[in-house]
Amino acid sequence: MKVVFITGGSRGIGACAVRRFASLGYMVAFTYLKSEKEALALASEVGALAIKADVSSSDEVTNAINLTTLQYGKIDILINNAGISEFSLFTDITDEMWKRMIDTNLSGVFYASRAVLPQMISQKSGCIINISSMWGEVGSSCEVHYSASKAGVIGLTKALAKEVGPSGIRVNCITPGLIKTDMNAMLDEATLNEIKEETPLGRLGEADDICNALVFLADDASSFITGQILGVNGGFVI
Ligand code: NAP
Repeated sequence: MKVVFITGGSRGIGACAVRRFASLGYMVAFTYLKSEKEALALASEVGALAIKADVSSSDEVTNAINLTTLQYGKIDILINNAGISEFSLFTDITDEMWKRMIDTNLSGVFYASRAVLPQMISQKSGCIINISSMWGEVGSSCEVHYSASKAGVIGLTKALAKEVGPSGIRVNCITPGLIKTDMNAMLDEATLNEIKEETPLGRLGEADDICNALVFLADDASSFITGQILGVNGGFVI
């Protein structure tokens, strides 16, 4: 049975992925930070392992990976999903805001990938899927620190795929468009409608749309796919 480790599984896309992979028979471990009640309820609902770990802490992420390996014997698939977003004029971004964004969205991917790779390299197989954003591809006004962190994830994906491909490990990236989760709860109806109208497929994304791509990339049927950036955005970015 394959083991999947998902960062940020307590809410949104991550929680959807926890449910989806568990329903497909994977053994699932996931991290959470603030949403303990939701995380523990989800873990008992689907029989997953929930671990409190801040992805911006190298030690906490490494401990979570080690705990999962102790519990399940291995990790086959790492999904780097945990992330934060924030709106701010560029000149109002403080050093603390910049650091928190990069530490969470980019360093978190680095810490988890570095912690899981030694075992994947000795297994001579493994799959890492990073969740970036379409804004990492094209940039978003008033989200420069977010866009920069997500562009970093795209660069990390491509470089790491080249480095670990010879060890049988695939590294891919999904760049979601606007997905209906708490992350967009501050957007009003008019803004959501505008985005919908600008989207060729005429709707907003659901967490399930991202999970469909995750399952595809995690599956052995994708064994010849690595270093790719898969846009799941209804055509918003083409
Ligand atoms: P969400 O609903 O806000 O959920 C974020 C998840 O990340 C939560 O489970 C949260 O855990 C976790 N998290 C945040 N900071 C963390 C930290 N420091 N350590 C550990 N976990 C942390 O967001 P979402 O929409 O599902 O987004 C998931 C990913 O997709 C993010 O990387 C986001 O940038 C990306 N994305 C989302 C959209 C969108 O439109 N929703 C679009 C493009 C890309 P706690 O609640 O337990 O703290």
